[in-house]
Amino acid sequence: MAPKTGRAQGLLRVLDQCLALREARIVRSALRTTTAFLLPVQCVSCGRPDERLCRSCAKGLRRSARQAIRVEEPAEALPLNAQGQPLPVMAAGKYEHELASVLLHYKNHQMVALGKILVPLLAAALRAAIQELADPSAPVILVPIPTRRQALAKRGYWPVGLLLHKVARAHLLPANVRVAKILRFSIRASWGKAQKSKGRKGRASVRNTMQTRDTPGARKILNSAAQVLFVDDVLTTGATLAEAHRSLGEFDLRIRGAVVVAGTPPPNENRQLS
Ligand SMILES: [Zn+2]
Repeated sequence: MAPKTGRAQGLLRVLDQCLALREARIVRSALRTTTAFLLPVQCVSCGRPDERLCRSCAKGLRRSARQAIRVEEPAEALPLNAQGQPLPVMAAGKYEHELASVLLHYKNHQMVALGKILVPLLAAALRAAIQELADPSAPVILVPIPTRRQALAKRGYWPVGLLLHKVARAHLLPANVRVAKILRFSIRASWGKAQKSKGRKGRASVRNTMQTRDTPGARKILNSAAQVLFVDDVLTTGATLAEAHRSLGEFDLRIRGAVVVAGTPPPNENRQLS
């Protein structure tokens, strides 16, 4: 057999890594499914047994997310317009109490089933944002904030992408609104550390990490003057939305704002929100 060239060896190494990643995801996914059956179910908010979200907490969640709210004010890293106003951000509710518990467990504890609680909340926030931030009579493109490959490999799913997919599939949005995945993290950034810190440090960790997808569908949207709303699960500093905004800066798209499930937690709250 002829000796392998350096390039061939490099390609084989990449292929090995890809296969290892795929196998690891399959094993992790199987373990998650098994443990979900074995572990006793309890309310993610108050710990009461037998239900993932007890009636009392579900009632509290409905009460706190009754009306979508604007949450851009405390997010210090959001991009500013010419008048110095931050990018407007609509949320289903504040990142606190039951909503914070459900979102945290959906995102970081692999409890994908909790997504069905979050889908109508996100849909309501999206509809409010389309009315308040965009021109509802013209088409609106919803651009989900991408996930890093490292986070995808760890979780096995893309939290906001999955929610948005379910919102669209359930026909909870106006007919002229559609979802377009036109952003992605650059390959190097994908394996880097996610933004967890506040302020300047948080901003630096995501700067120049996002880019547009190079597909015919993405190019068609990027070369239009469509209205855009970014969609993410949680707004913390706004650094990730600022990076998404920067990555679309060279195009003529009309960025109207962003929509999140929950808005900025208080500064001292423990953040497990990569
Ligand atoms: Zn409860």
